[in-house]
Amino acid sequence: MEGLLSRAGPVVVDVASGSAGAGGRKIDPRVAEAVKRYWGFDELRPLQEESIAATLDGRDSLTVLPTGGGKSLCYQVPPVVTGKLTLVVSPLIALMQDQVMGLKLAGVSAAAAHGLQSERDQDELRAMIRSGELRLLFVAPERLLSAGFLSWMSRLRIGAIAVDEAHCISQWGHDFRPEYRRLRELRDVLPGVPLCAYTATATPRVREDIVEQLGLVDAKVMVGRFDRANLIYRVQPRVNAREQVEEALRRHVGKKGAEGGGAIVYCLSRRETEEMAEYLRGRGIEARAYHAGLDADVRTKLSSDFRNERLNVVCATVAFGMGIDRGDVRCVVHATMPKSVEAYQQETGRAGRDGLEAECVLLHSGADVIRWKNLMSKPAADGTVTPTEVLTTQNELVESMHRFAVAARCRHRMLSEYFGQAYEGAVEGQSECGACDFCLGELEDIPAAQEVARKIISCVARTGQGYGAGHVADVLLGANVERVRRLAHDQQSTFGLLRGMGRDVVMSCINQLIDAGVLARSEGEYPVVTLTESSKLVLRNQTGTGGMGEGAVRLVRPRVMVEDAGAVSGAVAGGGVRVKSKRSRASDLLNDADREVFEALRELRRELAKEREVPPFVVCSDAVLVEVAQKRPRSVEELRKVKGIGQRKAEEFGEAVVSEIAKWSKGQMGK
Ligand code: ADP
Ligand code: ZN
Repeated sequence: MEGLLSRAGPVVVDVASGSAGAGGRKIDPRVAEAVKRYWGFDELRPLQEESIAATLDGRDSLTVLPTGGGKSLCYQVPPVVTGKLTLVVSPLIALMQDQVMGLKLAGVSAAAAHGLQSERDQDELRAMIRSGELRLLFVAPERLLSAGFLSWMSRLRIGAIAVDEAHCISQWGHDFRPEYRRLRELRDVLPGVPLCAYTATATPRVREDIVEQLGLVDAKVMVGRFDRANLIYRVQPRVNAREQVEEALRRHVGKKGAEGGGAIVYCLSRRETEEMAEYLRGRGIEARAYHAGLDADVRTKLSSDFRNERLNVVCATVAFGMGIDRGDVRCVVHATMPKSVEAYQQETGRAGRDGLEAECVLLHSGADVIRWKNLMSKPAADGTVTPTEVLTTQNELVESMHRFAVAARCRHRMLSEYFGQAYEGAVEGQSECGACDFCLGELEDIPAAQEVARKIISCVARTGQGYGAGHVADVLLGANVERVRRLAHDQQSTFGLLRGMGRDVVMSCINQLIDAGVLARSEGEYPVVTLTESSKLVLRNQTGTGGMGEGAVRLVRPRVMVEDAGAVSGAVAGGGVRVKSKRSRASDLLNDADREVFEALRELRRELAKEREVPPFVVCSDAVLVEVAQKRPRSVEELRKVKGIGQRKAEEFGEAVVSEIAKWSKGQMGK
């Protein structure tokens, strides 16, 4: 694609698009049985199958799956099948605890070793390991690499080492942790044990770094599809951040049940998070600010409240990131444009982990680009200055993000292509994805597009095809800037021809013309906009907006403030056509009666979670509750047929669920 700079290298093994049984291999019956018994799933996703097989074959591997893609199962299944212990390196205690709780509820023996353990916990842990019953041990890297731990480990029968959130090893990643760098030492202590890395990071550079830094040997690298089909992307120029944020949130929070869930509003500065949270509270939305300037215990409390559904809306800097494994985040809003498409993918990735529909709203303005560039060129708090080449790369990333924001194309397609993958998610009988503002028909036509296009083309021609889109826009807008005057472009006949149009809109139009092949953009550090064969056709076409024939162009812009709140899928698109969505959202999947049951089950889940002191999503996901609400099982045996209910969970929660449903049915009869 022209509009965005693609940064992806070759995809190494791309098995995600294949059907089940990828690679022609028959699924190992031991794997199938374990997955059904403990997790209640009838099948594995193709990449999960490949990844598990690689570990069982004793191979080093790197598994790249988007958030919600099911990475945990990839390292949880092998130890259950082989009966040997898997060590899982995990960066955060909260993440470890959720995983351990989840595994225990599924009937798999698991434990965590970290600094905050009591003596008793440690004794218990040692006993579990000695008896050979422990299947997964989660360890923080610094603990793992302590001398005592290493020598102790070398005497254990370890089947595999899983490195979760493996991008933490790379300084090009977004969560660099220097202690991850030492993990390759494990090789010497545990020779012959496969080292298996897992990440959601889509950047090839980080992936290569992982393989190199961990010292993986002949690793099988498996890369899944990055597209998150259940996310709806909306992109709007920022006019009034507070109102736009509130409007987006109102589509999700403050309603009962299925439409509730969590929401995250990302802001650039600490002050902005506080102001936004305060504004929202004033509007009756219970929101809290989260940033690195708060005391550690305040931050821990906020994270814990969010995970336990005691708090649903958080206004945060990117410090609120890793460890947010709550499954029902229904909405992520960016009040400011993030610094790269990579960061955007990462942050929006926190929405909809449970696979149900979720919305991502990006607010942006040209000012964000300038803010980022200023921030990045400033020396860090400790006085270190970013080297020039790194700065150049970072600036390019910001520009790519801005191009994404002002483009008028399918957002799902752009994201996939940015990460070097062809987009395959188009819905039949629909324009493209049916899950972004562009495809949902929420962009409006720019009046007199043909004329706007002609003015842009003339300006590119008159200024000699030697300048970037920003400069061309400045000339057209009649901007009073030094560079325009110095080049005497304020003397050009095209100077000020689009005066009064927003700068972002003009930038967007230039990008749209590039995407349509009417203009071209050169490669390199300072890309310039040039003419193409089609430029002439557009200049010659006299039919005007909406006209047909050679050289007719259409330019669009976002409707700021989408009035129709119902425009979240299942939505009414431009001409009043109902858009079919292949994404599922709890509220669409459920009829009124189902929904009542769903609400009751959610409440029950909250109680059961509280009794066990675990976050509700650890008990089960919303997707499971939806299916239970629809099937309304009358016995524990029937409940067992629901996807995601394994044997152990059926035993532990079955009675409570079945009787809750029976209670509801009885209430119905009485009506
Ligand atoms: P990741 O770690 O990649 O973000 P998770 O491991 O948390 O993803 O899985 C995301 C969701 O997908 C969870 O709710 C999990 O239960 C579900 N899931 C994982 N594998 C399967 C499968 N094979 N079939 C159905 N659901 C699955
Ligand atoms: Zn789309």
